[in-house]
Amino acid sequence: MERLKQQIREHGKILSDKVLKLDALLNHQVEPSLIMEMGQEFARRFQGDNITKVITVESSGIPVAFATACHLGVPMVFAKRKKTLTTDEDCYMERVPSFTKGIVTDIMVSKSFLSPQDRLLFIDDIIANGDAARGLIRIIERAESQLAGMGIVVEKSFQKGAQTIREQGIRLESLVNITGLTDGIIHFDS
Ligand code: 5GP
Repeated sequence: MERLKQQIREHGKILSDKVLKLDALLNHQVEPSLIMEMGQEFARRFQGDNITKVITVESSGIPVAFATACHLGVPMVFAKRKKTLTTDEDCYMERVPSFTKGIVTDIMVSKSFLSPQDRLLFIDDIIANGDAARGLIRIIERAESQLAGMGIVVEKSFQKGAQTIREQGIRLESLVNITGLTDGIIHFDS
């Protein structure tokens, strides 16, 4: 997606050789027309896959997951990170290390929203080491739902997450692939 790449070049801030700040377009502020375009692209790639639900993790995956679900005409469910008074007691919970917070957090999905009849498309904003993704994949496995594939907005392919997930035989599609953040430059694969 050329428009996305252009926005990342324009607004992305390199914080270190591993971390790219994308607050202006993904993690704090979002541009609805760009998000809808991302959703349309994921929907196009998974059109024939009989997706019954789109799933993501709170919070930065939500806008793109919503846009994808809108284009596919299916519901979207997001794993919650905080237990509240209204949280369903009957939920799948997994503990995952957080790349940006440097701590371990819990993610949970109510058992009532996942079933063995579901064929899920897992959408997320960025993949680094793949910990968040693996946590949600474990939940999907416990629910005995099928995982049709994953759609990731930004794959940082210089970290191992996407590769290890593909090696598990899971289809993972990304919209842009960042191969490095060295010398103050965002390197894309093409
Ligand atoms: P992982 O679990 O794959 O190591 O990290 C995934 C999550 O950490 C993403 O959902 C994203 O929110 C956050 N993350 C990982 N790398 C980056 C990065 O370079 N920049 C930003 N802004 N977030 C990141």
